[in-house]
Amino acid sequence: LFRSTPLLRQLNNARGQLSSFQGSLNHVKDLLRTDDKLYIQNGKIAFRELTDAIELCSINFNYNQNESVLHNINLTIERGQMTALVGASGAGKSTLVDLIPRFYDPTHGRILIDGVDLQSYDINSLRRKIAVVSQDTFIFNDSVRNNIAYALENVDDRAIWQAARLANALDFIQELPQGFETRLGDRGVRLSGGQRQRIAIARALLRNPEILILDEATSALDSVTERLIQESIETLAAGRTVIVIAHRLSTIVRAHKVVVLEKGRIVEQGGYQELLDRRGKLWNYHQMQYKLSQAG
Ligand code: ADP
Ligand code: MG
Repeated sequence: LFRSTPLLRQLNNARGQLSSFQGSLNHVKDLLRTDDKLYIQNGKIAFRELTDAIELCSINFNYNQNESVLHNINLTIERGQMTALVGASGAGKSTLVDLIPRFYDPTHGRILIDGVDLQSYDINSLRRKIAVVSQDTFIFNDSVRNNIAYALENVDDRAIWQAARLANALDFIQELPQGFETRLGDRGVRLSGGQRQRIAIARALLRNPEILILDEATSALDSVTERLIQESIETLAAGRTVIVIAHRLSTIVRAHKVVVLEKGRIVEQGGYQELLDRRGKLWNYHQMQYKLSQAG
């Protein structure tokens, strides 16, 4: 198969090594986006919109031969709903969501979008409709404006301003020395984690994505920033198909479906209240977080 070409394997290894540097991974993914289409199977169908569901059918995945990261994943992600993934660090949550924009392809099994194999879609048309907001947003050595617009052509300033406003980023941007023209990154102004995340939300808003993937921040944000981010994520998520990796259970109360992952397996899935009533895995997490918040 195309995906096992030595070059792709090398690229994937490089990607794995780089993943330890917070922030670099998404950048590498973006760079690979243009190259890897030569090596992975690309379909001809232009992806426009999700009309029904994303289905993961008997998915297995391993990064390398000896360790298996996802085991027999069967999951339906319904259009217009919020699906939440819960589980300990290393359970496979990020790996699972990485399969949807095809940063990786499953080792076994299939992913269907509206009944059509993911690999039958043109990969660029697919990725244009998927936005990922994660805690390790890459900030380029460029202006605030270009960091929000990045990779989009002919974006007008009003649209950027609007996206920044909805992302609750306008206040801190306007306080920067040159506003939207302020240079960011290693050679410019350094943003805090919460500010980077709001840049990522503005980026996603500007793209008007069909499918939104949120990999929630674990880092402790102050409560004002947290509330602002929560608010702008709600704006971004409204009416879209959302897959959220949740560390704080309070953010997934409104999820239509909660999926609990343990060591790469789905051990529980269902509605939030339904799972709590079952007093199983989710209930255990719930008890643990409640105790922690009482202690803290
Ligand atoms: P989670 O997001 O739930 O914390 P991940 O999907 O990041 O879990 O990781 C699942 C497992 O896969 C972990 O054991 C992790 O070490 C491993 N892993 C993640 N990314 C890579 C990679 N690029 N190469 C090799 N192993 C990886
Ligand atoms: Mg993760």
